[in-house]
Amino acid sequence: MAIQAMCSKNAKTSSSIIAQILKFEKEGCNLVRIAVPNMKTVEMIPAIKKKTHIPLIADVHFDFRLAIESIKNGADKVRINPGNIGSREHVEEILVCAKKHGTALRLGVNAGSLELNLLDKYGRPCPQALVESALRWVKIFERNNFKNFVISIKSSNVPETVEAYKMIAEKCDYPLHIGVTEAGVPPYAVIKSAIGIGALLLKGIGDTIRVSLASEDPVEQIRICKQILKAVGLYDKEPEIIACPSCGRCEIDVVKLVKEVEKRVSKIKQPLKIAVMGCTVNGPGEAREADFGIAGGRSQGAIFKKGKILKWVPEKQLASELMKIIEAKI
Ligand code: SF4
Repeated sequence: MAIQAMCSKNAKTSSSIIAQILKFEKEGCNLVRIAVPNMKTVEMIPAIKKKTHIPLIADVHFDFRLAIESIKNGADKVRINPGNIGSREHVEEILVCAKKHGTALRLGVNAGSLELNLLDKYGRPCPQALVESALRWVKIFERNNFKNFVISIKSSNVPETVEAYKMIAEKCDYPLHIGVTEAGVPPYAVIKSAIGIGALLLKGIGDTIRVSLASEDPVEQIRICKQILKAVGLYDKEPEIIACPSCGRCEIDVVKLVKEVEKRVSKIKQPLKIAVMGCTVNGPGEAREADFGIAGGRSQGAIFKKGKILKWVPEKQLASELMKIIEAKI
């Protein structure tokens, strides 16, 4: 599963785009997309490619010449919504150029790019209309012997997004880029993305993912993708921390302790389930499935492994002792 992120509006010069992509790479991003609204941005592509290390996707709307020039300038993939490129001939020109350069395409369909005859037929951009539009373009791509593409069918409506992807996944075998578009701002955007992307991933649908998010720091897109993948059991490059919600029996500051444990385990790059529980009476048992865990007590807490208490330690040393034990056993 590849995590994709898109550079934000703050990245407009090649150096600011490069800086943002390098930050994405550090965070675990696998593919990056940049908006290509004009030739000035197209011309930045070679410099960006030279200084970065993950595949670059040029995001083009309306103007087929920008897509063609992005390909010629070294983009690894170009995202187009064929429905807004203007004409089938222009889309075919893009296909010829992409084939010649070995460049992948993303065939995107969304409400804004839906053909008028499909809007007439269905009355609105419903999942059936989006899928019919995508399949029309798939046929055109195939007739041009072009198979190096992924499909995305996005809507800002979660149930409709899920339905559309399920339909297209049944009808063809091309890789799918999944996400909920225009999800908005957190926390609602995170919830919409988690439900939409998560529902699809649990059905085995999706090859690349992106969280569409209006946030201060675009790196957030990657963090949320990783958390969604972790929650559905598809991310094995770092531990998962589970924590009790705390109740009247809680004897420690669980939130503070979770933050400390999170910070300390961030250097571990393997899948582990680590529990942070609020009391020693129920904590170890409730988190029996965790590989390791800590449970807080009034003066001292317990460190446990698979529900069994390994040792008692003063509360202040819980996180550090937990780390020592994990490091010795992994
Ligand atoms: Fe309450 Fe203890 Fe369970 Fe946490 S582990 S929810 S404090 S009973």
